[in-house]
Amino acid sequence: MTVKEIKDRISSRLEAAGIEDHIYESWLFLEWKLGISRADYYMDPEAQVDEDRLEDLEKALARRQAREPFAYIMGRSEFMGYSFLTDNRVLIPRQDTECLVELAADRIRTRSDRGAGLRILDLCTGSGCIGICIKKMFPKAEVVLSDHSEGALEVAGENARQLQAEVEILKGDLFDPVSGTFDLILSNPPYIPSEVVDGLMPEVADYEPRTALDGEADGLYYYRKIVAQAPAYLKEEGSLLFEIGHDQGRDLETLLEEAGFTDISIEKDLAGLDRIACGTWRVPRLG
Ligand code: GLN
Repeated sequence: MTVKEIKDRISSRLEAAGIEDHIYESWLFLEWKLGISRADYYMDPEAQVDEDRLEDLEKALARRQAREPFAYIMGRSEFMGYSFLTDNRVLIPRQDTECLVELAADRIRTRSDRGAGLRILDLCTGSGCIGICIKKMFPKAEVVLSDHSEGALEVAGENARQLQAEVEILKGDLFDPVSGTFDLILSNPPYIPSEVVDGLMPEVADYEPRTALDGEADGLYYYRKIVAQAPAYLKEEGSLLFEIGHDQGRDLETLLEEAGFTDISIEKDLAGLDRIACGTWRVPRLG
């Protein structure tokens, strides 16, 4: 078969499975399974490929046709330029979340020399993508990852090992396993309202861990709990940074305000949508 025939076949099979980006994804499969880049393709679309090289591609394609996310099939995803091990025990690291890391990095840089002396907590760490990137950027900072899911922590631990990030990993519900105070608490907790989760695209609803997505009735369950408990774990002038859903800015502003946080701000992502909520903790003074 020619490369062009293979590419067209991948693309039409993905399209038949209802995958919108079928053309883009056909390039991904071609590159990943046959080592043929776009440039290779255009140099010689009529190049012949041996049939026996297609077996692996077939298997991966069948999984994708069942709407399993590409990142789980490949077992990796890219985040902030690092390659993270990714399987169905964790939420797939998303570009949206890179905004949280960038904002945190800006704050860390202005606060200290390469993070020296800072303690940073990544709560609900999942794959570990947030905390591990921070540790890579600021090796002098002390970074703690925590999650309630054993499976997620196995993935986070493996990612930390592969990326050579020396982080501390704790297992437990939110702050339960955490001790001491932090300069920065970062979190991308589950924030999708329960009844919305089932209606999401099959890649998300059928494959990603529900516990990483479902923020209960109004989606704000974990924000409420974290906002209430965070002051006990923040240093004076420590900050809490959340990833949020595009329509949750107002709610988060209110939650942070009512809990006594200051310097509250809602920041936008590259698409111009509300994506991050920040608040700073100053110990309230009496009188
Ligand atoms: N912190 C992880 C991420 O951003 C996992 C988030 C989650 O499980 N809700 O990808």
